[in-house]
Amino acid sequence: MGSGMIHKIEKAILYAKEPERILFNSFSLSFKGDHKQHKVTYNDSTWQCDCSYFHDHGVCSHIMTLERVLKDSVHLAEIPETLSYMDSGIISKIEKAILYAEETDRLTFNSFNLIFNGDHKQHQLSYDGKWNCSCSYFGTHGVCSHVMTIERLLVGSVTPAEGIPVMA
Ligand SMILES: [Zn+2]
Ligand SMILES: [Zn+2]
Repeated sequence: MGSGMIHKIEKAILYAKEPERILFNSFSLSFKGDHKQHKVTYNDSTWQCDCSYFHDHGVCSHIMTLERVLKDSVHLAEIPETLSYMDSGIISKIEKAILYAEETDRLTFNSFNLIFNGDHKQHQLSYDGKWNCSCSYFGTHGVCSHVMTIERLLVGSVTPAEGIPVMA
């Protein structure tokens, strides 16, 4: 493995501790719930889930899980004013989300689109089973520190990039 690639891996380890560098524009994923599979989407700060709790309340344990996993990289779902946090239903959803957030193998990302604030400039990163990043290192190596950062954050929920390190 060339020293360039090692440097990119080291960078990805540091970047993964700084989720505020990452801003999701959109994503779509399957969420393996306790009883069935749910489809969650995020588009320009708008969340959607196909579960019945979301339909009735505008938020659900699946979305709250993703808010925990993705931290500062997403905008929080808007909680309808009619929904009281004293409601025991919502409290059990929050408890569930705390558990789900430790089980990221429940998540399978189908696609996403995000902006990555690198050290020098912004990069556009996309995934639909195949990865793409607008940086020049990705163009020549098929992988980069930005892709490796997202792979770390979403481990178990995405297919790793197929970039083959160029030997020095
Ligand atoms: Zn849901
Ligand atoms: Zn990149």
